Amino acid sequence: MCVFCEIIKGNIPSKKVYEDDNTIAILDISQATVGHTLIIPKKHSKNLLEIDEKSYLDAMLVAKKVASAISKTSNDVLGFNLLNNCNEVAGQTVDHFHIHIIPRYKKDDIKLEFIDNQGKFDLDSIAKKIKENM
Ligand code: AMP
Ligand code: ZN
Repeated sequence: MCVFCEIIKGNIPSKKVYEDDNTIAILDISQATVGHTLIIPKKHSKNLLEIDEKSYLDAMLVAKKVASAISKTSNDVLGFNLLNNCNEVAGQTVDHFHIHIIPRYKKDDIKLEFIDNQGKFDLDSIAKKIKENM
């Protein structure tokens, strides 16, 4: 059984901040920033591609609720990054779908940067390929 299923069953301790019938929210054991929380559907599915729509939507609603609560804990919480890592290539280390809520502070150690690739790709052909698979 995966580590998050063990946590959901109560076999491994966690710092739970929210629970309902379908979803739990726990503090990430390694706080990327203070308040870093994981939103975890109770039903096991591996990742974004495999999760059913209801579990996903339930988790997203809990993400909003928990972010709202975290924002009220301190005036220093100025924003959030919501993050899902899908598969090893994207940094997924626990194969049970979850959403990271990462509170952002004026000075924190998070660096999310994209290279400016404007003009380097044919957006029409990229969009066409995606639309063909919808
Ligand atoms: P990811 O790399 O997106 O799969 O994220 C997995 C996250 O789970 C990491 O940020 C870990 O710090 C966190 N994590 C792993 N084990 C535990 C645990 N027992 N309790 C809380 N968080 C955990
Ligand atoms: Zn699991």
